[in-house]
Amino acid sequence: MTAAVRRYEAIRLQADFIGRLDAACAAPGGAALILVGIGRLDFVNWNLGFDGGNAILDAVAARLEAIFPGRSIDEPWPGKFALVVPGIDAREAMHMAHRVVAQCSVPHVVGRANLFNPPYVGVALSARGVGGGQLLQNALFAMEDARRQTLGAAQFYDPAHKTRIEFDFRIENGMRESFETGDHFRLAFQPLVALDGSGRLAGFEALARWNHPELGLVPPERFIPVAERSGLIQGLGNFILWEACRHLVAWDAISAAPLTMSVNLSAVQLAAPGIEEAVEEALDTTGADPRRIKLEVTETALASDIDTVARKIARLRRIGVAIGVDDFGAGYSSLGQLDHFGLDFMKIDKKLIQGLDADARRVELVRLTIALGKHLGMELVAEGIETEAQHRIVAHLGADLGQGYLFSPPMPARDAEDWVRAGKAAPGAAQTIADGTTARSNPSASM
Ligand code: C2E
Ligand code: CA
Ligand code: CA
Repeated sequence: MTAAVRRYEAIRLQADFIGRLDAACAAPGGAALILVGIGRLDFVNWNLGFDGGNAILDAVAARLEAIFPGRSIDEPWPGKFALVVPGIDAREAMHMAHRVVAQCSVPHVVGRANLFNPPYVGVALSARGVGGGQLLQNALFAMEDARRQTLGAAQFYDPAHKTRIEFDFRIENGMRESFETGDHFRLAFQPLVALDGSGRLAGFEALARWNHPELGLVPPERFIPVAERSGLIQGLGNFILWEACRHLVAWDAISAAPLTMSVNLSAVQLAAPGIEEAVEEALDTTGADPRRIKLEVTETALASDIDTVARKIARLRRIGVAIGVDDFGAGYSSLGQLDHFGLDFMKIDKKLIQGLDADARRVELVRLTIALGKHLGMELVAEGIETEAQHRIVAHLGADLGQGYLFSPPMPARDAEDWVRAGKAAPGAAQTIADGTTARSNPSASM
C-alpha cells in the first residue's frame, strides 16, 4: 500500500466518524462527544518501542469497554478514543469523563513494567446548529485544555479557552510574519537607579515590545509564552540580545559613566543548546562589553534540571556576563540551590516590594531576603518600586539598585537617551509620560 492510499484510508475513516457524529448531533436530544487521549504515550514508545505503546492502547480500549459495556468505542485517529453518547447533559457527560480518568489512571502492567499513563479527556455537547465537524473541534479544544492541566484530567469545552487558543494561534502566525518583515518588534528600556542616595543611573532593563498591525500592542506576558511553545523564542531572544547590546554600545557615546544592560532570558532559551554561542555572537558583533550585560533568569528556569542549568550558568559567566535571579520571592527557589549557581545578582519580585509601606511583616521578609542575598555575595535589586515610601524602605534595608514606575516606566530608546545624557533620576518624582499623566498614577500607560 502506498503512503497516499494509506492516507486515503485514514481520511475515509475520519469522514465516516464525522458522518456518524453529524447524525448523532441531528437526532432529537443531541449527543455528547467524549475524546480520550493517553498521557505520556511517547515515554512508553521511547522505552519499550511501539509494542509497549500498542499494549497501553489495547489496555485502555479494554478498560473503556469494561466501564461502558455495550457502547461503541471509536478510534477516529490513532491513539485517540471517542465515545458518542446520545441524549445526555453536561453533568452526565462529565461524570463519564471522570470515570475514564479514574479507571485509566490505574497503572498498566506491560511485561515487567508498571506503566502510569493517565488520560486527558475532552468533553463537548452538541447544540442547535452544531454539526459533527464543529462538535469534534470543540471536543479537541477541551481535550487540549485537559492535556495542559495536571496528569489525568477531564475538561468540558469552554468557548473562552477556545478563544484563547485561537488568539495564541493568531499571535504565533503574526509573530512569524513580523519576523519575516523584520518589523514591529522593539525594545523598551526601564532605568535601574542606585539606591545610595545619589539617584545615579546604573543601567537599563531591556523589555520586549510587539506592536501587531491588527492586534495592537500585545503584552510580553502573552507573546513570550507563545514564542516559547512555538520555537520562535530562539530568534526573538537573539534579536533582543542584539538590540540590547547595540543600544548599550551606542549610548556609550553620550553617557558620562558606563551603564549596564539587563536582558531577560526565558527558561526555554536557557535550556536550549547554543545559548552561550548566541550570547557570544551578540557580544562580538556589537562590540558590547560582556561585563556590562546582566542576564535575568526566573526562579522557575533555575528550578528545572539543576545540574545542567548550573553548568550553563558557569559557562555564561565565563564569557564575562553577569547572571541573576529575576522575580525572587514569587516562586519557590530553595535557598541552598541559589548558592549552588553562584549568581551575581538577585532581583526581588515586585509583589514583595508592593505593600512594603503597609505591612511590617513584609518589611521583615524583604530585610531577610536582602540579608540572604548579600550573604551569598549578590547585588540586590528591588523592582516594582512605585512609591517614595517603598523607595525609602528598600534603600534603608540595603538594596543596591531600584527599578519601578516611581523612577520611570519602560520607555522607547529615544526617551531613554535623555536619561543616559542626564546620568541620573529626575529628583524625587515619577516621570511624566506622553499623555501627561504620571507613570505612578497610570501604570497601564507605560509602554
Ligand atoms: P519582568 O522581567 O519581571 O519585567 C518587569 C515587568 O514589570 C515589566 O513588565 C515592567 O513594565 C513592569 N514594571 C516595571 N516597573 C513596575 C512597577 O513599578 N510596578 C509594576 N506593577 N510593574 C512594573 P513587562 O514589560 O510587561 O514585562 C512583563 C514580563 O514579560 C517580564 O517581567 C518578563 O518576564 C517578560 N519579558 C519582557 N520582555 C522580555 C524579553 O525580552 N525576553 C523574555 N524572555 N521575557 C521578557
Ligand atoms: Ca526581568
Ligand atoms: Ca522581574
